[in-house]
Amino acid sequence: MTTHKPLSAGWPLAFLEQMRAQLGSDFTEFESALVQPTPVSIRMNPRKMAGVATHQYGSAYNINDLAQVPWCPETSPVRAFYLPERPSFTLDPLFQAGAYYVQEASSMLLYEALRQTVNLNRPMRVLDLCAAPGGKSTLLASVLHPDSLLICNEVIRSRVSVLRENLDKWGYPNVVVSHHDPEDMNNLTGFFDVVVVDAPCSGEGLFRKDPDAMQEWSEDSVQLCSARQKRILAAAAPLLDKGGVLIYSTCTYNDTENNENVRYLVNSGFRNRPLILPAEWNVVEKQAGDLETGDAVGYQCYPHRVRGEGFFISVFQKTGFTAPVKLDARTFRTIRALRTREAASAAKWLQNPADFSLWEKPNGDVMALPKALEKTFLFLDSALKSKGFGLEMGQFKGTDFIPSHALALSTAINQNLPGLALSKEDALRYFKKENLVFDEPVKGWLLAQYEGLNLGWVKGVGTRVNNYLPKDWRIRMDIKEYI
Ligand code: SAM
Repeated sequence: MTTHKPLSAGWPLAFLEQMRAQLGSDFTEFESALVQPTPVSIRMNPRKMAGVATHQYGSAYNINDLAQVPWCPETSPVRAFYLPERPSFTLDPLFQAGAYYVQEASSMLLYEALRQTVNLNRPMRVLDLCAAPGGKSTLLASVLHPDSLLICNEVIRSRVSVLRENLDKWGYPNVVVSHHDPEDMNNLTGFFDVVVVDAPCSGEGLFRKDPDAMQEWSEDSVQLCSARQKRILAAAAPLLDKGGVLIYSTCTYNDTENNENVRYLVNSGFRNRPLILPAEWNVVEKQAGDLETGDAVGYQCYPHRVRGEGFFISVFQKTGFTAPVKLDARTFRTIRALRTREAASAAKWLQNPADFSLWEKPNGDVMALPKALEKTFLFLDSALKSKGFGLEMGQFKGTDFIPSHALALSTAINQNLPGLALSKEDALRYFKKENLVFDEPVKGWLLAQYEGLNLGWVKGVGTRVNNYLPKDWRIRMDIKEYI
């Protein structure tokens, strides 16, 4: 007699039992979904996506024919689509140019949570506390008022560079990348209007996408995650101004990590903010009976109900008061205003120089800080360990200005700088950091471009064009068969 092997054979038994208890009669469908392929979805960069509208990924499909992620529709600033399969994004110059971000669809629900609970039409101070690799940060940058400040923080040092790279690609100048332990940010008390805590978790919702996460899972590790999440939330709470919004999300189904921390916040000076989600989205409202709110306290995506992975999100408003930090309390400053002549020269690289003030770091990096945020940036200069601050434009070497890669990818760059339109093959050679050769001689700094989007800098020397792609950005895969 052959015995029936469950679809999810090899998955942690205690996890499956927990899900059976959580889902009841839905469990069989959930279990079937676990062995289905992970949906692939991309979210457009609203300031760069013009060139993407008719883009073909290889020969396979046209973006206009793709299904939309329901909570990121055509009319929203965060249009997002499902792809029928996973292409090699590395080989798409538009991906390298920051035209879109590859993000799991459920986690884009963050947009709906923001839309329903904060006024996105006014400038705000926003902290993405657990930010790497930058999925939520790029979404936040896309939807916030342009005069908002967005601090993207990551505690694990080795993850800061990928965060920075993704934000450089996204190209928004109102962003700071920082590297702090959440418990080490208490000089920013009462500072923020919104704090997003997309917490490290047991990753149950990502098991099918990332089977390795399963190996780390145990009931003990869930307890450890829950305690760590509580510590992060306890550190996040004082950073919010009274009335500020805290968004807590995880990619787990686990009540110990989700509902238990909802309870913690509700008992620590926060009120839960229910969301109204269309029934056809199939997102499950989670209750915490003992809280007697009568409303759902959080929202859970399950892979058998939505086209996405497991994701939990819950929104809170701070009712307690924390005395806000005074912006002018600090006089210490590491950066200095750029000298007039250099400022005039650097300003030529910006589309709207009047919107920025220009500063210089001790290492010579020239920074463009949005004027609307100048006072805030100057305060943050001493309050944060930053790894990226406004738009870092480049450096003067004598009287020459050497533009940075971040400037090439920035949405603030002067649109009239000379460019060099590349074929897809040459664009890939550019990302391989090869020097390009052309029939006609080219001279000086040029923007390497593909389908109208900037990829980075080249400098023409006769018919040879030197490639200024930072070496860490070089694509490593073998591209011979594609060029
Ligand atoms: N928000 C990111 C995104 O959308 O791309 C994903 C964040 S991931 C779920 C959680 C992040 O928390 C990781 O980058 C991890 O390094 C960071 N982290 C780990 N331990 C932490 C801690 N004790 N405090 C704060 N963040 C932590």
